[in-house]
Amino acid sequence: MPAMICPKCGSPMTTGFLLDSAQSPKPTEWIEGAPEKSFWTGLKLDRRRRFPLNADRCERCGFLELYA
Ligand SMILES: [Zn+2]
Repeated sequence: MPAMICPKCGSPMTTGFLLDSAQSPKPTEWIEGAPEKSFWTGLKLDRRRRFPLNADRCERCGFLELYA
């Protein structure tokens, strides 16, 4: 698989992910829709589509490109 190229400066990008370390370490996820508060869990997440985020980072300028 060819390396991703930075759309800002044309340098190679390295694939990684965003860490959510608020409670236990886990990848940050994309959640469908606007955030809605829930009394029990903080935010309502039931029945929403969710995908872990891949983040490509440019080695030269630090630009991040996110994929879910
Ligand atoms: Zn760049």
